[in-house]
Amino acid sequence: MNKILENDLSQMDFILDKAKEQSIAYLNDLSNRSTSKGVKVDISNHLADDGIGTMKTLQYFNEKFEEIMVSASGPRYWGYVVGGSTPASIVGDWLTSIYDQCPFVIEGSGDTSAQIELETINMLLDLFNLPNDFIGGFVTGATVSNFTSLGVARQWIGKQYNKDFAKDGISESIKVFAATPHSSAVKSLSMLGMGSNNFTRIKVVEGNREAIDIDDLEQHIQQLNGQPFILIASGGTVNTVDFDDFKAIAELKKKYNFWWHIDAAFGAFAACSDEHKHLVEGWEFADSITIDCHKWLNVPYDSAVFFIKEKYKYLQVDTFQNSNAPYLGNPLDNFNYTNLLPENSRRLRALPVWFSLMAYGKTGYKDIVSNSIAMANHFGDFIENSKDFALLAPVRLNTVCFTLKNQEQDNATSVFLKKLNDTGKVFLTPTVYNGSKGIRASFVNFRTTIEDIEIVKELMVELV
Ligand SMILES: *Cc1c(COP(=O)(O)O)cnc(C)c1O
Repeated sequence: MNKILENDLSQMDFILDKAKEQSIAYLNDLSNRSTSKGVKVDISNHLADDGIGTMKTLQYFNEKFEEIMVSASGPRYWGYVVGGSTPASIVGDWLTSIYDQCPFVIEGSGDTSAQIELETINMLLDLFNLPNDFIGGFVTGATVSNFTSLGVARQWIGKQYNKDFAKDGISESIKVFAATPHSSAVKSLSMLGMGSNNFTRIKVVEGNREAIDIDDLEQHIQQLNGQPFILIASGGTVNTVDFDDFKAIAELKKKYNFWWHIDAAFGAFAACSDEHKHLVEGWEFADSITIDCHKWLNVPYDSAVFFIKEKYKYLQVDTFQNSNAPYLGNPLDNFNYTNLLPENSRRLRALPVWFSLMAYGKTGYKDIVSNSIAMANHFGDFIENSKDFALLAPVRLNTVCFTLKNQEQDNATSVFLKKLNDTGKVFLTPTVYNGSKGIRASFVNFRTTIEDIEIVKELMVELV
């Protein structure tokens, strides 16, 4: 064995202690650490002939990069939709690396960690109060979950024409309908060869909404004269967290032949709130659902799940099977994640989620979700009652989409946002909603408290 490597291995105890010390220092200081760093670092390092060992590398990392690590998992990082990491999920994540297993199959392989993944999937179905007629699996994020689900949708369309698109390529035009799809769902259409320009944008409900207009949808469906299509529904849009009407879509599904996909990357967590679970009512009739775990479930990146109706497992296998690898067994007989999703080897991504679900249970997540919603409402109230800011849409769940009232100065919103983000005390991201430049604050981190809202309110009043 290489001498440096051997030396590292012999002092694993000491090394992990140091990593732990550093981790604790970071976590304990999350609230004070800056949420943004504009600094540029010199990234001209080249690989040396001889390594320096883990301890010196840690020291070097600390000198060079530690300083620029922002408090992305802290309580005032409200940009995009960025969750934190619960203590249990950090343990699960660390142990994922320690055990370093690759979940493939249930039987016929030495590694049986896929069973942990399946148990975690079942627990997630419980959390979301979804029936167990879905097959679920872990992927890197909602983008890949959308990709996986829409890949099966594509195969389903082919099946309606007695074609196998996975084997023979796409030979029919594929109709896709959506009102306010997330960019990653549209990106998935390009990755899947269905064409990102080929989806038809259905009208939204009138009155400052982003949800699909069911009448307009039905008119578009009727124009297809029975041609099968894919509907990408939103379970929480990014700007205003609007939900398509799942009960109405479930009714349409009784009359028309289509694949129904729901992107509920973070909106799925409405199911954990008694006051908001009506927003997802009817979603159990969808053919596929995308949910992120690294957002509102508060586990570390990279983690999301897909749920696809088990009755379409054969189409899922058609799409993702590793057909030229006899050592992987018959894809339909033997449950093997390799035949059900894009990746082959992957980490045991389920473990951080398993730890967090075990540790906090349904009530823990109810509390996290209701806290985030309460924080969004507090912040939303402040915006609504302010003389300087205005809501661009009502606060529907966990996100506040707002703008500056005074737009006389060019780029007033962006200028203000830059000033605010430069304080390093809070991080928000810009958006455009209905043609207006706006700012989004998204609440999904379990650490955020009312004091955090107060800190940001004060700053905003001061800087505007
Ligand atoms: C965040 C998000 C995505 C993309 O998720 P990633 O985890 O970043 O790949 C897709 N859809 C919605 C609604 C989202 O909020």
